[in-house]
Amino acid sequence: MSDTDFPADVHVLRPRKVSVSSKLDSFLDKAGLVPSCSGELNDNTRPIAGSINAIICADCSQVEYLTRDYCRCGHYLNGQLQDEFIVWERNIHSEHAELLGMLERTLKPLRLYYLLAIPFMLVPAVYAIFWSGSFTLSSLLWWMPVLLIAGAGAFAESLFSRPLKESTCLVENYTFDTFIEQRHVRHL
Ligand SMILES: [Zn+2]
Repeated sequence: MSDTDFPADVHVLRPRKVSVSSKLDSFLDKAGLVPSCSGELNDNTRPIAGSINAIICADCSQVEYLTRDYCRCGHYLNGQLQDEFIVWERNIHSEHAELLGMLERTLKPLRLYYLLAIPFMLVPAVYAIFWSGSFTLSSLLWWMPVLLIAGAGAFAESLFSRPLKESTCLVENYTFDTFIEQRHVRHL
């Protein structure tokens, strides 16, 4: 082979293998000029990735319509979706149980806190029995801390139990559509 003989494919530009500068590399990465390797194909015959009617095939990694039973590669999409649903269902139940346990642990000290109100309730009663014979305005003022303690306790209780109420509502009322909606929100 002489100096002027080149292989037939010499005109084909090959991808750059040598790094010119680390700054250029990071610029290319950020600017997205390096082709993505996700392999997801978006053409007019497929849904837009991430939309509510889209599913990524676990076999060929292509975006496919959620309502199709089978991917174009032959993979059983309906089964894949059902598997996802079972995992999601198990998760919401375990999260619910976790919230329930957490609330029990949080409310236990709160119940003890209500005991603080007892002395304030007893004082006017004892006063009325032994000294006055009837309730006066000043003895009724002893009820003020009771109201404050009960009010703060009720507020804290409703605040802590809000996530559990939402979770109970979900666990008791979910359908397959709830799963599809949540699945979409998760992938956004
Ligand atoms: Zn496929």
